[in-house]
Amino acid sequence: MNKVVLITGGSRGIGAATARAAARDGWRVVLSYRSNEGAADNVVRDIKLNGGIAEAIRGDISRESDVANIFNRCKDRFGRLDGLVNNAGILPPVGRFEDIDFARWANTFAVNTGGTFLCCREAVRIMSPRHGGIGGAIVNVSSMAATLGGATEFTDYAASKGAVETLTIGLANELGTDCIRVNGVRPGLIETDIHKSAGDAERVGRLSKSVPLGRAGTAQETAAAIVFLLSDAASYITGSILSVSGGR
Ligand code: NAP
Repeated sequence: MNKVVLITGGSRGIGAATARAAARDGWRVVLSYRSNEGAADNVVRDIKLNGGIAEAIRGDISRESDVANIFNRCKDRFGRLDGLVNNAGILPPVGRFEDIDFARWANTFAVNTGGTFLCCREAVRIMSPRHGGIGGAIVNVSSMAATLGGATEFTDYAASKGAVETLTIGLANELGTDCIRVNGVRPGLIETDIHKSAGDAERVGRLSKSVPLGRAGTAQETAAAIVFLLSDAASYITGSILSVSGGR
């Protein structure tokens, strides 16, 4: 297989696990990251050591010019794009709704929702037969917060992921006849750095007993669902949001 997938936020956590899993499945992998070059280089090195092809590109997905640069470099290097995983995202600090200032709200939406919009748009401009492409698959990473609401923790984050899910459904309906499938995954409580980055390193330990399966999930378990939705095994699936949440 010489298909090419772009995974945003592929340097760490769920994105890094997805990059490794996609490479094992034969995808050529472009991973983007915001600032952690060392982590991105580690993922690229691991993939190459295992015989795969990978490249890391730096860029902030909330900046239109950075997103354009990521896609241009991807096109220059590989000349095609078959898959996109909109994984990069931020979790703001835990806090009550009335304490959220507008700058935080706007930044959360700029990264989680705006970044997903920008990357989807660039991907469609490559994948769609209306632009000379041959179709493809997009997987948007949402969150169980989109359905739970994030009360007392991060209602802004939850709302930004709700918008990602609505975008997923709209794009699936609009792009089906362009042979572009658009799906989402909705991770629950997954063990990654994101909780520490949000200032609550104990969150996973505190909440994992409330998950029906009795534990938090791993980045690898989330990646497995993403890679399935990218693959031809999911050829008749579009507009679906798959919960990877241990039943939460
Ligand atoms: P993580 O471990 O914190 O990794 C975040 C990744 O996104 C890193 O590669 C980071 O790059 C990149 N990133 C962050 N902001 C960016 C920006 N503005 N531009 C470009 N890249 C950016 O997060 P994770 O837990 O794997 O989460 C991945 C996705 O899953 C997110 O969308 C998150 O909302 C979602 N999710 C996670 C959980 C969970 O429990 N972990 C649950 C539900 C949903 P650097 O390495 O350069 O910083």
